[in-house]
Amino acid sequence: MSANPRLIVAGSSSSVPRPDRACSSYLIEDGESSVVFDLGSGSLANLRRYVDYDRVGAIVISHMHADHFLDLIPLRYALCYGSRQRKAKLPIYLPPGGLATLKRLVSAFADEGGEFLTDVFTLDEYDPSRPLALDGAKLRFAPTAHFVPAFAIRWQRNGASLTYSADTAPDANVTALARGCDLFLCEATLRLDEREIGPRGHSSGLEAAEMARDAGVERLVLTHYGEESTAADLDVVARTRYAGPIVVADDHAVFSL
Ligand SMILES: [Zn+2]
Ligand SMILES: [Zn+2]
Repeated sequence: MSANPRLIVAGSSSSVPRPDRACSSYLIEDGESSVVFDLGSGSLANLRRYVDYDRVGAIVISHMHADHFLDLIPLRYALCYGSRQRKAKLPIYLPPGGLATLKRLVSAFADEGGEFLTDVFTLDEYDPSRPLALDGAKLRFAPTAHFVPAFAIRWQRNGASLTYSADTAPDANVTALARGCDLFLCEATLRLDEREIGPRGHSSGLEAAEMARDAGVERLVLTHYGEESTAADLDVVARTRYAGPIVVADDHAVFSL
């Protein structure tokens, strides 16, 4: 039965997983449909508590860094060898160029027989310049400021909206995409005293809060942080820039939309 949509955090770590915590993965589900943004290393085990591999509606990958997609590999094993059967292949939406990256990765498993990926997945690359309709929800994308092509994602359904920053330095495209949304899920990778040398690709909690303020969002959820940042520290610094409600995500956190 359809219920109010919820965001569930299946992985809140940046690329170095915090102890007992997985890398990026976020589930939006309403009891009837489900979509997962990213499936970073370690996150499948967490995700299964809420929606198992036989019932996941679709997975959308923001960019091809390992901390955002690597658990597609164990997911493939689950779909091939697990006891739960799907009625149809699981749709995976990759960023432009993602298919080639994934194929290079799984070429290491060429002797496993069958088509390693397409036996269980349908693989498509989304066009970030166009909306993507998924199970009654509309997704829109915006390129972020990162070290590889990466895309923030805005999810909208029945008047509820969420924007996921993916990985990004402060960026006007991301702010514009997030404009006025109910929940802004934003990365906060950098420690306050940390400065990126050369081209930038990440934000601090302070900068995430500035984007939330500039976008006029209803709520800010900070995520994608390492063990050097405590939730309390992130919360305190973000409050100096953004007056709305702030929560620091952790694995298994649940938010109503
Ligand atoms: Zn990342
Ligand atoms: Zn990244």
